[in-house]
Amino acid sequence: MLVNAADMLKQAEAGKYALGAFNTNNLEWTLAIFQAAEEAKSPLIIQCTAGAAKWMGGFKVCADMVKAAAEATGLSVPVALHLDHGNFEDCHTAIEAGFTSVMYDGSHEETFDLNLERTAEIVKLAHAKGISVEAEVGGIGGTEDGVTSNGELADPEQCRQIAELGVDFLACGIGNIHGVYPEDWAGLSFERLGEIKALTGDLPLVLHGGSGIPVDQIQKAISLGVSKINVNTDLQLVFAAATREYVEAGKDQQGKGFDPRKLLKPGRDAIVARTKELMEEFGSVNKA
Ligand SMILES: [Zn+2]
Repeated sequence: MLVNAADMLKQAEAGKYALGAFNTNNLEWTLAIFQAAEEAKSPLIIQCTAGAAKWMGGFKVCADMVKAAAEATGLSVPVALHLDHGNFEDCHTAIEAGFTSVMYDGSHEETFDLNLERTAEIVKLAHAKGISVEAEVGGIGGTEDGVTSNGELADPEQCRQIAELGVDFLACGIGNIHGVYPEDWAGLSFERLGEIKALTGDLPLVLHGGSGIPVDQIQKAISLGVSKINVNTDLQLVFAAATREYVEAGKDQQGKGFDPRKLLKPGRDAIVARTKELMEEFGSVNKA
């Protein structure tokens, strides 16, 4: 059974560790991420963007697949299925489809007031059904699902106002960006993180663009109140590298090496290994 992400993140916030929120793209990724969580005995947030859901055939296919896979594998750790960067309409569709947690990303709305208004509406709708809500203040740099925003430092006062709506966790820019980090990246702003934390209390904070941030910065951010770290690009890179290695070694042309179960296995194994490594770095191992 899937649970919402509120309790597991409250515990992470109190225990000064973070949960990875790992993006899935298909059945193989889902099973690989589940295997990692089971072996690491870590609570799990598995998430999906609207774009990835569309690739899978829609939110309903994604939700039914994740639920069925959790049951079929006898997953013993708590798992939440979260919508990553949903717009107002996506949140409604995902809730209908059976997601147990949603992110309403109102940072692209025309005004902050509109973000506030719509976040409040999603909180009301989701909480009535026991579903947790993530909100966002300020853009996260880089590009995700075709939406680009300039990296910025979230306004602590705006964070406080969104927090007061009763959201369960909050994404706020602190210099992080989506995708691969450029060579000249300035690093995370711990000063801004501290200012936001001072105004939002024990609300779990979310770090987007968790792929490629140096481990010492990740761990410092966790110590200062980050409880959820989004991981997408990282798993894409290890999957692609392992698949490339298999093909470049000519293994797809040996025997039945072209069988998709053989072709996809190195990438799948790489996702399991990397997810476990990240759970170790975030401190969520043995917390289930
Ligand atoms: Zn994000």
